[in-house]
Amino acid sequence: MEKVDITIIGAGVVGLAIAANVSDKSRNVFVVERNESFGQETSSRNSEVIHASIYYPRNSLKGKLCLEGNELMYELCKKYNIPHRNTGKLIVAVSEEEEVQLPELLNTAMNNGAKAVKIISKDEVKKLEPSVEARAAILCPTSGIVDSHSLMRHYEAMAIENGANVIYGIDVVSIDKSGDGYIIGYKDRRGDTGKFQTRILMNCAGLESGNISELAGINQDEAGYRIQLCKGIYFRVKHGIEKFPKMLIYPVPPIHGHVGIHTTPDLGGGMRLGPHFYWTEETDYNVDDSYRENFFNSARQFLPFLKIEDIQPDIAGFYPTRQKPGEGLIDFIIKNESDKGLDNFINLVGIESPGLTASPAIGRYVKEMVNEINN
Ligand SMILES: Cc1cc2nc3c(=O)[nH]c(=O)nc-3n(C[C@H](O)[C@H](O)[C@H](O)COP(=O)(O)OP(=O)(O)OC[C@H]3O[C@@H](n4cnc5c(N)ncnc54)[C@H](O)[C@@H]3O)c2cc1C
Repeated sequence: MEKVDITIIGAGVVGLAIAANVSDKSRNVFVVERNESFGQETSSRNSEVIHASIYYPRNSLKGKLCLEGNELMYELCKKYNIPHRNTGKLIVAVSEEEEVQLPELLNTAMNNGAKAVKIISKDEVKKLEPSVEARAAILCPTSGIVDSHSLMRHYEAMAIENGANVIYGIDVVSIDKSGDGYIIGYKDRRGDTGKFQTRILMNCAGLESGNISELAGINQDEAGYRIQLCKGIYFRVKHGIEKFPKMLIYPVPPIHGHVGIHTTPDLGGGMRLGPHFYWTEETDYNVDDSYRENFFNSARQFLPFLKIEDIQPDIAGFYPTRQKPGEGLIDFIIKNESDKGLDNFINLVGIESPGLTASPAIGRYVKEMVNEINN
């Protein structure tokens, strides 16, 4: 049976960022992915925003890795010419009620480590974004956007250059502890089955991360690892509207924990609205046109030039979240499960937003965990 040093389950942005960081010519690293190429799931179905860590407490993993990830992301994108733009972001207050919330929101952002954030007036908003209507706003200069596909292609290329094998069409179906490692059972694209052995195992399976934990012998309900299906849908604004804001425009958050329907300019000159989130039981990626009015009414408050016929259903994605309906913000799980008798099983569960932003920092964080195992 083939034996490898490190196996990473999942070639989304997180698995690939880790592969780029932990691979080197002295170790044998496998990335196994059930789809035919990288990033076919959540990593290509999101806002592509480089977050500034406004809402995540500094002492949480989300907050720490988002802040580090923000800086590392800009460095990485500049160094390797990964398409991105440091757009900055405005959180706009459209009513008196929202305006009085801004100082508290600013305080939260500053306590959480977001850099150079400040409140700006209606006139300053108009100077920055003439088509946006607001009474005042919070300006976050370190927010931006990144082309997630190019980012993943970069991570994959780095991993392969460092000697890693990224293998597609491999669905992990069993995990058995054996000696100082794990025997991984898989099914390939033809339906054939096989097994190989790994010393270190990493779960980067996104929406399946709770189920992969279960395969490794962890009761996902007892551990709080079950992934809940929270669907985020987007609408696209018709091309050719010259008044598109260049910055990210967010509302004052309507629901604790979710940032509300916002604008996201894309690097091709287009603009999306979303996501609108709701809980569901199925992973279908359809976007129902019946949400058009809801999107229109939300966005029109700060984009008065918008007409209802300007928007059409676009993509949907699912938050790989551990948070249950009605619960507050919940943190990432990134840990070696040795306390559960599973030495060298590095488990990443519930890597929801800001997982894309945090990906370079997650790669570095997990590399340190591997160094600890090897020392
Ligand atoms: C609507 C929405 C908006 C978001 N916006 C942002 C944003 O603006 N900024 C930001 O920073 N973050 C954002 N996020 C979060 C970000 O997209 C995720 O944190 C990130 O993509 C998670 O990456 P991942 O690699 O963990 O998961 P995934 O991309 O889901 O990758 C997991 C991979 O594991 C594979 N896999 C699963 N099971 C198996 C198996 N048994 N065998 C082999 N392979 C398997 C899957 O096929 C998949 O490719 C958003 C998320 C959503 C849903």
